[in-house]
Amino acid sequence: MRITRYAASLAAAGLMLAACGGSEAGNQAEDQAENTAEVQEDVEFEAGTTMAELNEAGTITIGTKFDQPGFGLLNPNTQDPEGFDVEIATIIAAKLGIAAEDIEWVETVSANREPFLQNGQVDMVVATYTINDARKQLIDFAGPYYEAGQDIMVPEGNPEGIEGPDDLAGKNVCSVEGSTPAQNIRDNYPQATLTLFDVYSKCADALAAGQVDAVTTDNVILTGLVAGSDGAFELVGNPFTTEPYGIGVPKGDDQFRDFINDVLEESFEDGSWEAAWDDTAGAISGTEAPEPPSVDRY
Ligand code: GLU
Repeated sequence: MRITRYAASLAAAGLMLAACGGSEAGNQAEDQAENTAEVQEDVEFEAGTTMAELNEAGTITIGTKFDQPGFGLLNPNTQDPEGFDVEIATIIAAKLGIAAEDIEWVETVSANREPFLQNGQVDMVVATYTINDARKQLIDFAGPYYEAGQDIMVPEGNPEGIEGPDDLAGKNVCSVEGSTPAQNIRDNYPQATLTLFDVYSKCADALAAGQVDAVTTDNVILTGLVAGSDGAFELVGNPFTTEPYGIGVPKGDDQFRDFINDVLEESFEDGSWEAAWDDTAGAISGTEAPEPPSVDRY
């Protein structure tokens, strides 16, 4: 991926936040995340299952975002992504007996998540990935493990007075190809002019350059971009959809999906989900972890 200067400065901001997070609470959250993501040494899985295969291989290929601060952002020093999605994926890998350093991270952008799962290019996708019926025709989802909502980001001071999606009529709004927010604008707000890129950091670049009036996607993604904008952007803060985040797995692998659902429920209960939030998206947004959602065992 091309790392824009903007994305690099976001990464730097993320690192600064991490460095400043030396408070006792921050350290506790970190310790807890490390403890609870302890790699299972002697775990046994039924032969022939994806879990047994991955455990035997000692590695897993995981698709995530590389340009979304708080959820999945590539650290330019380590070349590994960091964020809530990365932490959740790492917890799952640990339960498969796979250490964080043995995970192979692949950048999945919004539009290639289903094909990457269908082609076997990744074993699972943890990438701000909304569960919906259209996608379930092609792949399956474990989760949800978080619920976001579509929102709007504007330049600081909101010069166009955009308070919600109806105000996008006649405005130039940026989103990402293959995402649910872009589809929602196309279907329900056709008066808006939609500019589409492959990743959200390019929308942030376009907003900074004054090429678009607004950016729309999930509130938590925009919160990360606002945090890294040095005061240049603000969030409208009026979410108008629900976006339950799931973990994409190849279609029909019910045992793998059940396994991930078990791990998610365990993480909701043992504090590791909350610690993951506090360490990542929670640190950036300054918000406490919400109540975890209920896993949908469809
Ligand atoms: N959650 C939405 C989606 O899955 C928007 C975020 C994204 O594009 O990753 O499409």
